[in-house]
Amino acid sequence: MEDAQSTIKPHAVMIPIHYQGHVTPTINLALKLASKGFTITFVNTENIHHQITKSSPKKQSKESEEDHDIDIDIFAGARSSGLDIRYKTISDGFPLSYDRTRNSAEFNEANLKVFPAHVDELLGHLVQDDPSVSCLITDTFYTWTSRIARKYNLVNISFWTQPALAFTLEYHLDLLVANGHFASNDTRVDTIDYIPGVKALEPKDLTSFLQSTNTTSLARRIIGTAFNDVKNADFILINAVQELENDTISAIQEKQPFLAVGPIIPSGFTRGLVPTSLRTASDCTNWLNTKPQGSVLYASFGSSIQSRKSDIDEIAHGLVLSQVDFIWVLRPDAVSYEETYVLPDGFEERTENKGLVVPWCSQIEVLSHGAVGGFMTHCGWNSVLESLWCGVPLLCFPLLADQPTNRKLVVDDWRTGVNLCDRQPLTRLEVAEKINRLMSGKSAEDLREETFKVRQTLERALATEGSSEKNLNQFISDVKAKIS
Ligand code: UDP
Repeated sequence: MEDAQSTIKPHAVMIPIHYQGHVTPTINLALKLASKGFTITFVNTENIHHQITKSSPKKQSKESEEDHDIDIDIFAGARSSGLDIRYKTISDGFPLSYDRTRNSAEFNEANLKVFPAHVDELLGHLVQDDPSVSCLITDTFYTWTSRIARKYNLVNISFWTQPALAFTLEYHLDLLVANGHFASNDTRVDTIDYIPGVKALEPKDLTSFLQSTNTTSLARRIIGTAFNDVKNADFILINAVQELENDTISAIQEKQPFLAVGPIIPSGFTRGLVPTSLRTASDCTNWLNTKPQGSVLYASFGSSIQSRKSDIDEIAHGLVLSQVDFIWVLRPDAVSYEETYVLPDGFEERTENKGLVVPWCSQIEVLSHGAVGGFMTHCGWNSVLESLWCGVPLLCFPLLADQPTNRKLVVDDWRTGVNLCDRQPLTRLEVAEKINRLMSGKSAEDLREETFKVRQTLERALATEGSSEKNLNQFISDVKAKIS
């Protein structure tokens, strides 16, 4: 007999925040939900859409590329594989020519007002679709989700693209304030041991927004508002794994449906199905093919953060001193938007055949190549998950946002990585020493062993009876019950 629920087809509108580290996991979640019977309408900003299509290999191979040609449907491949994914783009309020890299106040303010007005208008049209829209899935950092979900009577689903630990710290902002740990001029510097489900952590492990002494910053306003708003969510899906953060996740579950469904990484038929990269990737495979198993260090600091020039210089010198083979993703804007970073004199000659420096690569392909044995990273959450998924230990150099918190998980809790820098300032000798600790000897063996265990935990979570798979199925069944 046919299960009554199987005939219900939820239709979710999904809206990521317009940054690489949020767009990629949201697209991958869309593919997962669509493969389990959801109809998805995925919404990108025109600017993100433009960047993806400009960077996609198909577009690159076209001789006569025109910048205003943004009509490529990035989900066409997914649809021809039988998934019901529709695609819309909306304006973020600025022309494509506007320089968003500067993160200007006018751009950020518009994100809070103009962008949600465009979402509202789009939903006004989409609610007439067939099947009718029943769910709104947005990034937890959006401040307006519950207002719009309520207006159109949609199930309100928040998607958190970071670990549970980062979520719970921002969720419990009120406790940090009450206990004097929320940054101000006389912030407490002792251990924080009162967040439900978190044993103890140091103030340096808080997300950078919670450490910043700028009490009037836009980031603080957004976090304050967004984390009030998420308390209205019907479900919170997170790109994390129950077994790796069990106490933290269980404590939040006492307050709201909080479901770990990670790692949300493309695998099986969804791998490579939809272009997600905002930049054009250089091929590294041929170079990697010439290197022995586990011998190459991969270094990359994510899609958007900028480091101090002195740190990047020390990293360059440290790579040379370490004598380890490496691939380094050195974005032209790694240090500044105004000037392209220039490597120290003699770097190229001294690293010939040993190092490959590229502006961008397909990270998941590089990490899954057998020649890669370590990852020097800023600890962006996607980078952490991708590395662990590929069984590659990490060398951690966190700077911003959730990165300090992610470092704590990787180094202190899971023992799958080491700190790049134990004391400021970063020096080339320390860089070389830490690279060698990551790549060779007993320390490297221990790290690989722990990383292998975590990788197995991730694999088990995604297996048919695994926690993430069960959580996702439970979520789908609860959503169906709610909309029936
Ligand atoms: N990435 C990539 N190629 C690169 C550098 C990064 O494909 O050369 C991808 C990486 O695989 C990850 C994302 O960009 O999925 C970066 O997200 P993460 O959360 O690690 O850091 P963020 O960019 O948000 O700081």
